[in-house]
Amino acid sequence: MPVYEYVCTECAEKIEVKATISEKEKGLNVVCPKCGSKKVVQFFGNIWISRSSEGGNNPLRCGPQAGAGCCG
Ligand SMILES: [Zn+2]
Repeated sequence: MPVYEYVCTECAEKIEVKATISEKEKGLNVVCPKCGSKKVVQFFGNIWISRSSEGGNNPLRCGPQAGAGCCG
């Protein structure tokens, strides 16, 4: 049985899921065991998720006219 690797987009926990090909094709219901989030994406080893919460503008707090440094 192949093992599929997933990663949680909430806490970056790596999750290994054993499933058959047919189970995978039907869609796996993967839940993060650490935080319980269902926001998991398949992990292919070399690809990592870029986390948009770091460094950039936060549109929820900083409008485009607010200028640089408004987030503190
Ligand atoms: Zn998680």
